[in-house]
Amino acid sequence: KVRTRFAPSPTGYLHIGGARTALFSWLYARKHGGEFVLRVEDTDLARSNAESVNAILEGMNWLGLEYDEGPFYQTERFDRYKEVVQRLMDEGHAYRCYCTREELDAMREEQMARKQKPRYDGRCRMRKEPREGVEPVIRFKNPVEGITTVDDMVRGRVTFQNSELDDLIIARSDGTPTYNLTVVVDDWDMQITHVIRGDDHLNNTPRQINILKALGVEPPRYAHLPMILGPDGAKLSKRHGAVSVMQYRDDGFLPEALINYLVRLGWSHGDQEIFTLDELIELFDIDDVNHSASAINPEKLLWLNQHYIKTLNHDYVARQLSWHMGQHNVDPSGHPPLREVVDVQRDRAKTLVEMADTSLYFYQDFDAYEEKAARKNLKPEAAPVLQALHGALDALAEWQPESIHLAVGGVAERLELKLGKVAQPLRVAATGGSVSPSIDQTLYLLGRERTLRRIKQAVE
Ligand code: GLU
Repeated sequence: KVRTRFAPSPTGYLHIGGARTALFSWLYARKHGGEFVLRVEDTDLARSNAESVNAILEGMNWLGLEYDEGPFYQTERFDRYKEVVQRLMDEGHAYRCYCTREELDAMREEQMARKQKPRYDGRCRMRKEPREGVEPVIRFKNPVEGITTVDDMVRGRVTFQNSELDDLIIARSDGTPTYNLTVVVDDWDMQITHVIRGDDHLNNTPRQINILKALGVEPPRYAHLPMILGPDGAKLSKRHGAVSVMQYRDDGFLPEALINYLVRLGWSHGDQEIFTLDELIELFDIDDVNHSASAINPEKLLWLNQHYIKTLNHDYVARQLSWHMGQHNVDPSGHPPLREVVDVQRDRAKTLVEMADTSLYFYQDFDAYEEKAARKNLKPEAAPVLQALHGALDALAEWQPESIHLAVGGVAERLELKLGKVAQPLRVAATGGSVSPSIDQTLYLLGRERTLRRIKQAVE
């Protein structure tokens, strides 16, 4: 059975690189009817914190990447790591190293002087006696000959000379295990069949394979994903804009858009751009992942977001929009129904932030008119027009878009004005600005009472 995992270190928020790794692991498990495990790699006590753990869980949850097991926490598994380190010691695959900082520095300098790549030379392999006053670390006895091959599902076959891999530390002098050891033990215990992760870990893979082999464990398959770059081709960083998943939510993106966007960073299927989750599960194949890094493309994300805003079920979009209205301290649960606002606004907004910003007047009286709009449209000459509109609208038996449309048209005709000369002052009076959905839709959604009150206020 396929089992994949996402193994973030909780040292910050969930960034989009991590989210893409999680997504690919999740998709791989879903596609193969397997299981997806979440493991929090929190052994770096100095850099890990509970806030980051929550940020990661929140990001996963918002994206809809459900895990079948976990979250497991490495800090709860120290006893198990100790046990495995002990076993490696007992079976002659690991040894205590008493080298001091000074000795290691001298070794390195000597190697550099000889133009060799600095590496631990394994001198403590032979040492039998402990050294007074030195708390030893424990090193893994890496094979000194032969090669280790990684049959990577993305990169293909990558080989490493074992002589290049030195005897890495698996337990520090205080007894705590190191990254390569904990990953190996966890992937083994959690029966992970496919390790899908960033290619910054590729150099760790032969070391991890060798530890697994020493333990007599069949290594999993590996897939190392290429980096994500900024639009300028440099390593993705904050200066390229949002990098945290929750920042994308705050900026008004739908999780569907972000998922669709992330999957295309490194994966493609012909020239198809838009994928439902079901399609992704069906079509995703790790063999189709690019070997080279891919650059983010903010324009494309906006385009996808607009697509999903336009096409997803309006109740669903309304629920997402409601959160953004809440950010403005506006409660959109009253009249008009938010889904009807979505219906009239969804062709006009690229983000939910934009949609919320331009929908506040449906629920909340505005403090001031948009200056330019008021100067142009609420001149003294507009007063009689607004008076006439008030009369015509007040007289309507039915508050429906069609009847509103007829009433506004009727006023224009009677005053011998172009429709725009009537509708625009009305729009500014009713919404505070010069941009809104069609005037009949806007007034219909505002409701009779709010509309008439705002027209009155504008002529006062
Ligand atoms: N915790 C590691 C990281 O966040 C990932 C380890 C792995 O996937 O093997 O970079």
